[in-house]
Amino acid sequence: MMRHGINLKIAGTATAAGSAASGGALRAWIAAVAVLVLVVGALMPIGTASAAEVNVYSYRQPFLIKPLFDAFTRQTGVKVNVVFAPKGMVERIKREGRNSPADLILTVDIGRLHEAVQAGILQGVQTERLTGNVPAPYRHPEGLWYALTLRTRVAYASKERVQPGELKRYEDLATPHWKGRICMRSSQHVYNVGLLASMIAHHGEAAAEEWARGLLANQARKPQGNDRAQVRAVKEGECDLALGNHYYMGKMLQDKEQATWADAVRMVFPNQADRGAHINVSGAGVARYAPHKAQAVRLLEFLTDDLAQRMYAEQNFEYPVKAGVPWSGLLESWGKFTADDLPLVDVARNRALAIRIFDRVGFP
Ligand code: FE
Repeated sequence: MMRHGINLKIAGTATAAGSAASGGALRAWIAAVAVLVLVVGALMPIGTASAAEVNVYSYRQPFLIKPLFDAFTRQTGVKVNVVFAPKGMVERIKREGRNSPADLILTVDIGRLHEAVQAGILQGVQTERLTGNVPAPYRHPEGLWYALTLRTRVAYASKERVQPGELKRYEDLATPHWKGRICMRSSQHVYNVGLLASMIAHHGEAAAEEWARGLLANQARKPQGNDRAQVRAVKEGECDLALGNHYYMGKMLQDKEQATWADAVRMVFPNQADRGAHINVSGAGVARYAPHKAQAVRLLEFLTDDLAQRMYAEQNFEYPVKAGVPWSGLLESWGKFTADDLPLVDVARNRALAIRIFDRVGFP
């Protein structure tokens, strides 16, 4: 089926500011806004006895989110307390039950958002701002979670050994053409489970299993390491093509050694002539027993608005989920692309089956 990736189309868009937004200009712009917010904040009587606060449980590293929360506090006077919980966050909130101080839960990957839904630790919220800012495929239909940023799973192709246009679709990864040429991390990692879940949604179980089998047969080595380690393997000649999330290109370019890995590859956005590249997200939802629900909704709305969207996406080289928010210069340089607008709830629904299929075909 021909689908046009949410135009959003993942548009680095037609806004004049967008094309002008080099990294430097963006930073200057954010700084200017921050100063303005500070000045306005100083004029407003805030921080009285009943100072409002909100508690965020975050899977994301503090350095990624602190600037955002600082901006929120400056704008609203609401203090943000962050619990950094990279492991076992869902279990912890479940254990805390009705006494959980968690107001807003921030995490990455539809798999982890879905896990939170299934654990019953989220509550649905719907406001005009939230549904207006976040396109329908990228939020839960009852408002249990909202995507904040988009990431896509790309192919990192050797500049030396893969011709431009040689890989066009995820489906191609399972053809004999790529025999012994592909590197990827464990199939059981959430990123790969999400990709296979999308294949199930698009092609059905039998075809998805065939694809998984073909992809396994094409591995250059036993799956190991993280996404960036695959790009290093391409650089070192172990394989010609790696699967990885797009933002790792940005992260590698920030690191002296890893930049040499990045230089060895070209990013390929798959399925550009049909359904678009597979989309996953970072996202947030209001906790079921949020003691400060009103502030949690306010913060969630803030995170989906232009200022936060720009800051948050830029921090991790992700794409803003809100249409029309200008991209950073680096994202612009990677080019516009068509994004799959398959609703993420359909990816979530097929996750358990995806894990079983990877098991069934013996994918490490
Ligand atoms: Fe990642």
